[in-house]
Amino acid sequence: MSERDEVLLDLAERARFFASLTTIGVPPLPPVEPSALTPASTVPDLKAVREELGDCQRCKLARGRKNIVFGQGNPHAELMFVGEAPGADEDEQGLAFVGKAGQLLTRIIEAIGMKREDVWIGNILKCRPPQNRNPEPDEVMSCQPFLEKQIAAIQPKVIVGLGKFGAQWLLKTAEPITRLRGRLGQFQGITVMPTYHPAFLLRNPSAKKDVWEDMKVVKDLLQQGR
Ligand code: URA
Repeated sequence: MSERDEVLLDLAERARFFASLTTIGVPPLPPVEPSALTPASTVPDLKAVREELGDCQRCKLARGRKNIVFGQGNPHAELMFVGEAPGADEDEQGLAFVGKAGQLLTRIIEAIGMKREDVWIGNILKCRPPQNRNPEPDEVMSCQPFLEKQIAAIQPKVIVGLGKFGAQWLLKTAEPITRLRGRLGQFQGITVMPTYHPAFLLRNPSAKKDVWEDMKVVKDLLQQGR
């Protein structure tokens, strides 16, 4: 007999035992909400994630950062944006997407009738890489459990992966962003829309129309079931 079958058999025996107690006058147990059976430790909340991150020294980026950029916005956001890593402005202020690319992201959010405060904005890395170089694998490995826990805590309906790093991390693929953009995927059951990074749009304004198409799809997804 498999371990799973043994556990099921044991549970069935216990259920029969508890049911039999009613025959000797013990009142039946009140029904229990499934959520009450979920151990608190499996449902992360953002405050606990921030506390666990602490004054993070898990990778070499800790040495050069001014501030940890945890991400910010609505802790119950239906829409979440995942970028790459903080730049100089973000490192200075401890806030995600507050530089030039961030200002463009604000306009992208407003274009679908939302405000920055309605959504959650974060990054794969919480610390600025030197000279804004690409994230390195060991840095992503150290940091990703925190983004995973943030996503689990926020439980957004849609996540927009910004640029190559955001999109590839969410979709667990190495396909180029030019191939990924606009094609919906999934991260742990959550819909993912990969699109261009606002910093790329600042250099290539003609690509803004593609992002606009992607955001219209996102808006429709958010309105479904309302
Ligand atoms: N680029 C990113 O990917 N994230 C930021 O927070 C800022 C710029």
